[in-house]
Amino acid sequence: MDKRLKSLMGYTLLLLLVIGLMVLLFSYIYHLFSIDLYNSIINILIIISIMMMVSLVIAMAAIFIALKTRRVYPFMIFPVKLGMKIVLPFALFVTDVLKNDKDMIRSLFIDINNLFVESGNIRRSPDKVLLLLPHCLQDSECSRKITNNVSNCVRCGRCKIGEIIEMAEKRGVQVFVATGGTAARNAIAKLKPEIVLSVACERDLAIGISDVSKIPVIGVLNNRPNGPCVNTTVDVDVLAGKLDKMLAEPAALQENGS
Ligand code: SF4
Repeated sequence: MDKRLKSLMGYTLLLLLVIGLMVLLFSYIYHLFSIDLYNSIINILIIISIMMMVSLVIAMAAIFIALKTRRVYPFMIFPVKLGMKIVLPFALFVTDVLKNDKDMIRSLFIDINNLFVESGNIRRSPDKVLLLLPHCLQDSECSRKITNNVSNCVRCGRCKIGEIIEMAEKRGVQVFVATGGTAARNAIAKLKPEIVLSVACERDLAIGISDVSKIPVIGVLNNRPNGPCVNTTVDVDVLAGKLDKMLAEPAALQENGS
């Protein structure tokens, strides 16, 4: 089983245990007092806690099926969303308290988000698709100013930027290189895409996907052979494959562009 899924199940069990303990505590308090009003309130709390536990089990089952089948079926939309809103923030909170690495949970969040977005109708015309790249993909010694204007790249081949621009150009998709989260948000506000394909690390992608919740974002993780934030890379074929699934008529567009 996927290590990330195992870890998420562990966090779900922990959350179920926490809620279960709350139910026991409420039941204990219920028997301690004989005041009707208090007992009614505690009764409601017990029912809410049990409903939360049942919802969590259903949400976890939906996430499990989504990751195994690589698809989010319509009947799974609500429970998967619920799992993403409750279990993942709880898992991030616990990893933070334990000072563990959060990237595994973040990458699971990105994976589930991608499944979620890709299960819907994502085909758009190229001008409605934005390919958002992080600045760290650029060779750290390159003097060309490509943020805000990728056409300044001379495609020398020292980093992946040139290859990505060429691939996106063939498809008629606009590319933006952002220096950070604020620049990325501004670019989305200005260019008004209907769907975004974004490359970044686990942290930036997870934050970005949550920030622009009104626009579907598909995330692709960068590779960091030189450590974080410097001379990172990405698989251009993966980006091309993702874009082709997002474009209304990918084959025709590629022919026109080449
Ligand atoms: S491909 Fe473009 S961004 Fe990368 S080093 Fe060459 S000119 Fe700079």
